[in-house]
This record gives sequence, structure tokens and C-alpha cells, in this order.
Amino acid sequence: MLISKKSEIRKAYLLNKYVIITPGRLKRPRDVKEETIVERTKACPFCPEKIDKKNVVDEISARGGSASGGKSRKKWNVLSIKNIFPAVALNNKKAYGTQEVILETPDHTKELADLSEPHIEQVLKMYARRTKEIAKNRKINYVLCFKNQGSKAGASIIHAHSQIFATEVIPPEVHEEMGLAQAYKIKHNECPYCNIIKKEMKSKRKIFEDKYVVAFTPYASEYHYEVWVFPKRHLDNITFLSQNEFKSFAKVLKKILLKLQKLDLSFNYFLHNVVSDKDQHLYLKIQPRDSVWAGVELGSGLVINSISPEDAAKYYRK
Ligand SMILES: [Zn+2]
Ligand SMILES: [Zn+2]
Repeated sequence: MLISKKSEIRKAYLLNKYVIITPGRLKRPRDVKEETIVERTKACPFCPEKIDKKNVVDEISARGGSASGGKSRKKWNVLSIKNIFPAVALNNKKAYGTQEVILETPDHTKELADLSEPHIEQVLKMYARRTKEIAKNRKINYVLCFKNQGSKAGASIIHAHSQIFATEVIPPEVHEEMGLAQAYKIKHNECPYCNIIKKEMKSKRKIFEDKYVVAFTPYASEYHYEVWVFPKRHLDNITFLSQNEFKSFAKVLKKILLKLQKLDLSFNYFLHNVVSDKDQHLYLKIQPRDSVWAGVELGSGLVINSISPEDAAKYYRK
């Protein structure tokens, strides 16, 4: 029997999803340290000398402005390029959409966590710039900014990068969450996430809070060390963040990524934006890929998490 006395079944805030928290294993040493295979190959397609100028969509230079012209190319800090192996495309009616790759640094050896806070801020600003630009296309309904880091998270290239995936189609789970948030707003006359933030800032799951942003581990955390980061203001999407909010976001993101780096965990993070809904509450979900979903998860849809979000939050606060 998997469920011990300490275990607890928890429902997600909004979605009809359940997690079984089975704590007490936090101090257990990891039997196998995850081996992230780092291939330092000269053929990295994301190193500055390999970038084909005609694939560049947008760039932020070292000083923060837009770099321009061929000579300044080496000075880019953050670059957006076309995804050359896209699953969706603007010229494909059957799978309409667009995909871009955001190169977070020209330095092949650095991870996002290693970059300075102002540099991470530039990465976030690139998400905002591209989201704004892509959302101008009326046929696009959904913009997803995400990052996969480490082999378990599905990253195939080591050079630090994120991706943008934008389509006509709104994914079912996102659609469901929108509907539930809408119903909550009608019933309570308040955004559910504004309410969750208030509650979590008084809970044991709180990780970080300043004037502009908050971070906590979600009550029904599906992944070991999962974290959600929100701006305190009720903002629909990343394009509305103020200078101070970008700064705080970068600060808390670096803090969390350094903690994950210490655990040597692969992770995914993402920012959803449904273009047609103008009243969402922006948030970033960070989901480490420590646990491997097995029979129970795949067969029942119930997720087992052996590290309680309360213990995970303690680790982040330390
Ligand atoms: Zn590289
Ligand atoms: Zn809100």
C-alpha cells in the first residue's frame, strides 16, 4: 500500500486534479544522482558564430537596447531566432502557429541561473517583447513562453535557451482553467489567484515576497520542488510588467534556479497567455523533473509527490 498515515490527498486550487502528498522522504539521500549529459560540441547551433543572420527575429544588446547591424551581432545578450524545426508554422493551415527560440546568453558554458539579475531581466523582457509582437496576429490565440533545462526536461541542446510556442488552438487544460477562473470570479467577485496569493503568503508554502512579486510552492504540488511565481498586481500577461516588477521577477527566478542547480535537477518552466482573455493573472510555473511518473500516475491520473510543498518551501527559504 502506497498511502501511509502521513499521506494526504489534495485537490488543485482550481482544476479537478488531485495529488497524494507522501512526505517524510526529504532527508533520504538520493540513490542515484541525476546525470545530466553535457556535450560540449563545437557544432552548437546556438553559439554566436553559428547563428544565421536571416533567422534572427529580435535582439537585446549588452547595454539593454536593440542591437542592429551585422557587426554588433557578437554583442547581443539575448537573441530571438526562428525555430528551424517547428511543429507549427504560419504557412501551415493544418497546424497554424509560430515558434521562436530565445538564446539567453552568447556564452555556451552558462546556465540561466549563472546569469546576473539584470541579464535574467533582459531574458524576461525578451519574452514580453516577443509575446507583444506575436499577439498582434489576430489568428494567434495562445502564446506559451517556456524553458526546458536538462535532459529529463526534454532539452536537446545544452546552450541556455527558452522557447516560444504560439498557436491558434488553446490547450484543453488551459481552457478548463480559464473557465474555472471565470466561474470563480463571478461567484466571489475576485480573481482566484489574487485570493490564492493572499492565502499562501500566510502559509508554510511561502518562499519569497517583496513589494512586487511572490513565490510559493502550490498546495497540491505535482512535482518535487514545484514553484509558482506571481506578480502581486493583477496583470493579464508579461507585457504589462513594470520595470520594478521585471527586476523582482528576475531576482526571485535566479534565487529559485540556484537552489535547483544545487539539487542538480532538470526542470521546465512556463508562462501561459491566452490572447483572447484579457483578464488572466500572469504566473510562472517551475516544475522540476525529479520524480518519474509511473503506473499510478499514468493509470489513474492521480499524482504521487513524496516531497511535501511545505518541506520544499523550507528548502527554498533556507
Ligand atoms: Zn553554444
Ligand atoms: Zn488576480
